[in-house]
Amino acid sequence: MPSPPKNVDQLAWQHEGLVLNAFGAALKRRHGGRIQRVSIDAGFTCPNVDGAVARGGCNFCDNRSFSPSRRVRLKRVIEQLETGIQSVRRRYHNVQGFIAYFQPATNTYAPVDQLAELFESTLAVSDEVVGLAIGTRPDCAPESVLELLENLSRRHDVSLEYGMQTMYDESLQWMNRAHCHEHMVNAVDRSRGRGFECCAHIILGLPGETHAMMMETANEIGRLGVDAIKLHNLYAVTGTPLGDQVIAGEIQMMQRDDYIQTVVDFLERISPAVIVERISGDAPPDYLIEPKWCLEKSALRLAIENEFRRRGTRQGSRFSSPATDPAERPRPADLTPPEIRSQIEKRGRLPVLKMQP
Ligand code: SF4
Repeated sequence: MPSPPKNVDQLAWQHEGLVLNAFGAALKRRHGGRIQRVSIDAGFTCPNVDGAVARGGCNFCDNRSFSPSRRVRLKRVIEQLETGIQSVRRRYHNVQGFIAYFQPATNTYAPVDQLAELFESTLAVSDEVVGLAIGTRPDCAPESVLELLENLSRRHDVSLEYGMQTMYDESLQWMNRAHCHEHMVNAVDRSRGRGFECCAHIILGLPGETHAMMMETANEIGRLGVDAIKLHNLYAVTGTPLGDQVIAGEIQMMQRDDYIQTVVDFLERISPAVIVERISGDAPPDYLIEPKWCLEKSALRLAIENEFRRRGTRQGSRFSSPATDPAERPRPADLTPPEIRSQIEKRGRLPVLKMQP
C-alpha cells in the first residue's frame, strides 16, 4: 500500500485542542484511521554487547538474551507479525493498519542484503502493514543502511529510531553506550531528507544531569531537526548493572512529580512539528525495580497533560528556532566505526544477525 502524504498538517493537533503532538493522533491523521504497532524480535544482537565496540551493553539494558548464538528464522519473524496483528485485532475493532516495530537490540546491525530481505518480507505480509519502525544506535547507520531505508520509504512509512538518550558524553559514558553524541549528530545529518522519519530516544533523570542540562538536550533536539521523539524516565530492571546499583542504594530514581514537571518543561522547548511518540518508559512489573510509579502509564499521561493545562502552555510554547536551519547543514562524511561497518557491509548472512531462512 503506498504511503499517504506525510506531514499532512504538522500543527493540526493545536486546532484539535491537544497539548502535545501525540503520535497516535498523528498516525490517524496521516492514514485516516487507527494504526497500531506490532513489536518484533528478529534475533539481532548489538555491537555494544558482542564486542564490536564494547561488551556488557548499556547499564540499564537487560541484554542477556542478545547472545550472538541466538537464531530467529525469517518464518518465525513473519509469524510474530501475524500473531501480533491477530492479537491487536482481538483488542481493537477499528484498526486500519499496522507498523512492524523492530524493537529489541540493534535492528540495523546485520549484513545489508539480509536487512533488505527481512524488511521487505515483513512489508509483504499484508497490505495492512503500512510501515516499519526500526530501533538502532546512532553509530550503526552506515550509508548502505540509509540508502536501503530511503528506497523502502518511497512506498511505505519508515521510521528510524536512534538511541540518543542525552547530548552529554559523560552521561553516555556512565551508561556504557560506547558511542558519543557526535555519532548522533552525524547519523541525523545523514538521515535527513531521505524520506524516512528520524526519531530520537531520550532518557530523563540520568544521574549527574541537572534540570538545566536536560533542558539543553531539549534545545539540542531543535538543533538536530529530528521528526519525532520518545521520552523515557530512567528505570532500573533486575539483572542489570543499574538495577544492582539501585538495589544497593547508590542511585536514586526521579520522583514522579519531578518527572512530570521535567517532561512538561522539556516539551515546551520542543518544536510543535515534532511528533511525541512516548512520554514515559516502563518494564514488566516482575522485572521493574524502580520507579514503580511509571507502571501507572495512563495516570501519568493525564498528570502531564493536566500540568500543561494548569500552566496554560503546550508543546513548543518555549521553542526557539535554532540559529542554523538543520535542513541547511550539508550531509557529512559517515562516522560509522569500521568495526560496525565491516559487519553490515559483509556479504551473506553471518555473523551478526543469526536469522535463518
Ligand atoms: S545499544 Fe541498545 S540494545 Fe545495545 S546494549 Fe544499549 S540499550 Fe541494549
